[in-house]
Amino acid sequence: MTDSVFTGRLFGPGIAGAGVAAGAAWELTGGLRILPLDPGLGILNAEQPSVTSGGFNAGGLRIAWQDGDASWAFIVDAGDEQARCKATAPPQISEQFNGITRKRNRLERRFKMGGALLSFIILLPLLLIVLFLLNRDRIASWVVQRIPVAHEARLGDMVLAQSRLQMKILDSGPDVDAIRNIGKRLTTGSAHTYRWFVAERSDLNAFAAPGGVVVVFRGLLNSVASSEELAGVLAHEVAHAELRHSLVGMVKGLGLRAAVSMTFGDLSDSVFTDGATRLTELRFSRDAEREADAEGLRLLMAARISPEGMLRFYERLASEKRGSPPAILSTHPASGERLDWLRNEVTKFSGSWQPLQVYPGKGTN
Ligand SMILES: [Zn+2]
Repeated sequence: MTDSVFTGRLFGPGIAGAGVAAGAAWELTGGLRILPLDPGLGILNAEQPSVTSGGFNAGGLRIAWQDGDASWAFIVDAGDEQARCKATAPPQISEQFNGITRKRNRLERRFKMGGALLSFIILLPLLLIVLFLLNRDRIASWVVQRIPVAHEARLGDMVLAQSRLQMKILDSGPDVDAIRNIGKRLTTGSAHTYRWFVAERSDLNAFAAPGGVVVVFRGLLNSVASSEELAGVLAHEVAHAELRHSLVGMVKGLGLRAAVSMTFGDLSDSVFTDGATRLTELRFSRDAEREADAEGLRLLMAARISPEGMLRFYERLASEKRGSPPAILSTHPASGERLDWLRNEVTKFSGSWQPLQVYPGKGTN
């Protein structure tokens, strides 16, 4: 065989399905001369053959021609044989190779894109999880901003229903009345319809659920020294509700799926029940506490209630020696810095205060 001969497999009439090995060489006329290795087959001359890509994954060369009614093909698969076939092709055949190169490049691009798309689809959920974890705070506030007030109220109902299972909750009575009277003054103009409750628990605590549900524990009621102190705690809790802090906390705790359901108003999922249960133990960040203090002070001012009570209550909690800090300080972390800030803010406020109705057994500032 000379350098102009390239090898491949011949397919055609009377040849088995797998084809037979053969050598081939281009003619100057553009024809192809085929020399089967099996001497019994004799030399074939292909007139006006056409070259396309063929074989596995279009990676081979397919030289095809007609001989009367018979269709013949010569497939070149090996890379170096293909190179020789291309290099020795006469001009009228060379042009056909350009089309093959274009088609192969197109296929390769499509294959690469398909691969990229496939990896993207596989990685997408993972990517979403990572993004969610990295941006949990930001996503939580984004979601929370899109939760309608009506959904928030329903979440509040769920939290309340869950809390009733864990503790005795009073809906009425002199304590609830006293809290409501102060609370009303603090929540004038709010988008929520506030509801006030007393929990028969000795812990010194209070919490605000989304949608305007405020629960004050018996332990806290026993601990406040005046109506103004109670007003201070209520103002702080109302501020958490108004600033949707509890909602952000719930969304962060519940995860992406629940957050998405919540945005679209599907509150049936059991995960919300878990979230509702955990709300009583929800710890706020120092930033959230600072915000709630500031907003609480603003609410007290707007209601013309002396802010001294708020300061006094926290000062007393801080100075009292206890075995363990009261629950309200573990869910609403306080620091010396926070107290200093509060002290400083309170001195800025002046004006005439409208005294509160005396809370039974508590007196007023
Ligand atoms: Zn707080």
